[in-house]
Amino acid sequence: MNTPYDWSTDYHHPTDWDQLFAPLSLPDMLAASVARRGDAPMLDFLGRQYGYAEVARGVARVARGLQQRGVGKGSRVGLFLPNVPHYVAAYYGALAAGATVVNFSPLYTVAELEAQVEDSGTDTLFTVSANALLPTALKVLDGSSLRQLIVGSVAGGLPAAKSVLYRLFKRDEVAALPDDPRVIRFSTLIDNDGQPAPVPIDAEKDIALIQYTGGTTGTPKGAMLTHQNLTANARQVNAIDPDHEAGDRILGALPFFHVFANTCVLNRTVLNGGMIAMLPRFDAKQALQAITRTKTTALPGVPTMYQALLDHPDLAKTDFSSLRICISGGAPMPAELREKFVTATGASLVEGYGLTESSGVVSTNPYEGPVKPGTIGQPLPATHLRLVDKEDPSRDAPAGEPGELVVKGPQIMKGYWNQPGADADSFTVDGWLRTGDVAVIDDDKYVRIVDRLKDMIAVGGFKVYPSVIEAHLYEHPAVKEAIVLGVPDAYRGEAPKAFVTLEDGFNISGEALTAWLNPQLGKHERVNAVEVRLNLPKTMIGKLDRKALRAEEGA
Ligand code: AMP
Repeated sequence: MNTPYDWSTDYHHPTDWDQLFAPLSLPDMLAASVARRGDAPMLDFLGRQYGYAEVARGVARVARGLQQRGVGKGSRVGLFLPNVPHYVAAYYGALAAGATVVNFSPLYTVAELEAQVEDSGTDTLFTVSANALLPTALKVLDGSSLRQLIVGSVAGGLPAAKSVLYRLFKRDEVAALPDDPRVIRFSTLIDNDGQPAPVPIDAEKDIALIQYTGGTTGTPKGAMLTHQNLTANARQVNAIDPDHEAGDRILGALPFFHVFANTCVLNRTVLNGGMIAMLPRFDAKQALQAITRTKTTALPGVPTMYQALLDHPDLAKTDFSSLRICISGGAPMPAELREKFVTATGASLVEGYGLTESSGVVSTNPYEGPVKPGTIGQPLPATHLRLVDKEDPSRDAPAGEPGELVVKGPQIMKGYWNQPGADADSFTVDGWLRTGDVAVIDDDKYVRIVDRLKDMIAVGGFKVYPSVIEAHLYEHPAVKEAIVLGVPDAYRGEAPKAFVTLEDGFNISGEALTAWLNPQLGKHERVNAVEVRLNLPKTMIGKLDRKALRAEEGA
């Protein structure tokens, strides 16, 4: 019998949770802020500002345009977008039309995007004609069951956005779209009366977002997050932030397609009526300029971002006086880096923790009160944590021992899309989400992550799975066996390293294998080294033993 360790009862915040976390849909959350904030700025995109009312008009037009093209309840609308104003209009517009949003990384290859479009049953896809995005999306349109592709271009964007979009997407001038009725310009989509048919949303049942994640194994699965999961998580983070009413100016440098940005940048801003200083992608120089220019008050980021800001020569001439809070998550924040950043900027920096399956945030160090570097702090309000036995998650971990962290709360996903079998591995029999992270809890009830049961490697905040890199290695004729592990890395926090044995008759160096392998990998997947060994450890039945190699390497 389990005795849940229920922290919500002794958590110090004296709020009435039920009232705080009453069912709320994302479109209703936006509507409340639009009513309150009117023309106050919601987005700053490289200097061009969009007010709440203006964004709401863009959202209504997207919703109407989608409805006119057969999108409604039960449809999946994919976003294959970098951080651009289109993202916000498409995200809230698709939700207002009654659809479920599916987020795709703008770095996906054709094969990755196609697989997830098919798995999710995405019907309509948004992209912009920048970089490799449009060619990739067009190939997926031809190779999948996708019905239509909406393309933002110089002629489109939110109303009156032409000049900024022109500068950003100069190439659109020449990028002719194919003459295909399935390819629709963003400007054509939003050319309507902006009066979408109202759609009833059940915040607790309707899925707002399908967010792909490698979970514990690396095989991409779509976490189903309801409207209530997402709005509750934004409100939970608010509840521990004494200054949220101020209406933050949040730096939007994290990629919006990721759940960390979705909750801590986009949805929190919409909830509070603040402003996002949006960057198309993270660039240290641009980020520092934006902090001074927009008087940024809050900076959510992954550890490698803070390192890059600290290393940039413009740091000294940046005005950090407005910055009240930095929130680090996605990967462990090295204590020394935290210390250096706080000293250089004078801002507070708290570390939090969460995962895709928890809509972003599970726990954080307090904004006011003692921060414990090296810990992920305490659970958010209405979030319950337990440590369970690593081998048998139906039992509690022995008192004082590390155990797998399991979580319950209003932010926890419904399950994985189309994967009923996966839920049995992801939840305990009594419904706690298994995080795959091993933790200890100290006497002050702060949580420290000490190990990971899942194969994932956290490179900065980006998740890399050994199986993907190993599959590439096996394509080399000389490689007989391969194991990839995460090893400590001064800059990236953690980085992949490969260990291989060679087929008989082959002789190739680790350096040569590295030089062959890395160009085939995504930026974050690149290995620090390939080490050639005579043997790799095996389990009793002869399988490669990742765990034993980790122990050997102390990784
Ligand atoms: P994702 O679903 O891509 O957001 O990845 C979530 C995983 O990132 C968690 O299960 C952890 O393994 C890791 N993670 C997130 N935040 C932290 C943190 N502050 N410290 C250590 N690991 C973290």
